[in-house]
Amino acid sequence: MIMKKQDIKSMDLQELTAFVESLGEKPYRAKQLFSWMHQKLAPSIDEMTSLSKSFREQLRETSTYTSLRTVKMLESGIDGTRKYLFGLEDGNVIESVFMRYHHGNSVCVSSQVGCRMGCRFCASTLDGLTRNLTAAEMLEQVYRIQASTGERVSNVVVMGSGEPLDNYDNLVRFIRLLSDENGLHISQRSITVSTCGLVPEIQRLAREGLTVTLALSLHAPNDEVRKTLMPIANRYSLKEVLPACRTYFEKTGRRLTFEYSLVAGINDNLEEAKRLVRLLQKERGHVNLIPVNPIKEREYRQSDQAAIEAFRQYLEQHGIAVTIRREMGRDIGGACGQLRKSFLEEEKNEEREEMRI
Ligand code: SAH
Repeated sequence: MIMKKQDIKSMDLQELTAFVESLGEKPYRAKQLFSWMHQKLAPSIDEMTSLSKSFREQLRETSTYTSLRTVKMLESGIDGTRKYLFGLEDGNVIESVFMRYHHGNSVCVSSQVGCRMGCRFCASTLDGLTRNLTAAEMLEQVYRIQASTGERVSNVVVMGSGEPLDNYDNLVRFIRLLSDENGLHISQRSITVSTCGLVPEIQRLAREGLTVTLALSLHAPNDEVRKTLMPIANRYSLKEVLPACRTYFEKTGRRLTFEYSLVAGINDNLEEAKRLVRLLQKERGHVNLIPVNPIKEREYRQSDQAAIEAFRQYLEQHGIAVTIRREMGRDIGGACGQLRKSFLEEEKNEEREEMRI
């Protein structure tokens, strides 16, 4: 019988133990293997020198070992931010970002190749969804970055390409493995999951028994404006999304983050600020203002500094906690998803060039 190769880096310790035993090895080998993958961050099975050669051979025959290849890395001369373009086994590419803050290092991971949510200002969704990432492919973004910088990653935000709650099972598996005491042991409180607002999945996550921070991409104070920016607003109204977020707070005790990308002339005037205050008055969380990062495929422009400041002040004066997202790595520019997009376009152009020859 031909068995499908097993994705060992996506298994929890219990599953790995069962798998290792099925190969005729002692259970403690699973713990060693787990540590090689999730603590020592071994880039291949060959490095696992405390495992016998025959066991390593057996692993190579029966399992896949997910390891990302760095296709490109850009480092900012201003603040040390790094953007990585990683290659997957099947030839797809994804991007991840490493940011240095006073409170520690943060990694922004992608959860899907592309995205099917269609938010108008976002580059990741322009070509739709290619596929979900496995838990191992999400973990590997953190692992390769920690290994290549040699610096401990203390925060992880699932804010790269993709809608994490559209890849629910792999996301939850990723969170459990990332916070596992036998792995990198990153506190769940230091992990943030950002969603465009998939109501059933928010409710499910509330019951999952995790303590991650949930960030909701709000971007507008009412359904009317929200629909012009986010197609998902046609499926779930704010009357459904906000109560789901409240449930998340009640079940987990974790305050929410409401992300609000400021787009000039669309959602950035004081009328919207006023509505936002009314909408969020009773919610437990804070607003994170993100000056929109314009993409060339769309007409959207960033609000000017004065408008951003006025918006912030209005919220603050009316009792809403607010932060403005600082732009990191200005010199290695481009909005989320644009590094991948420009890389794919370059590749296409090169192919065309070659065909002409
Ligand atoms: N699918 C998730 C994660 C997306 S990325 C979600 O919708 O939340 C994280 C945040 O960046 C989201 O709030 C998203 O709306 C926002 N974003 C995406 N492209 C942007 C851009 N060009 N400018 C500003 N914010 C953007």
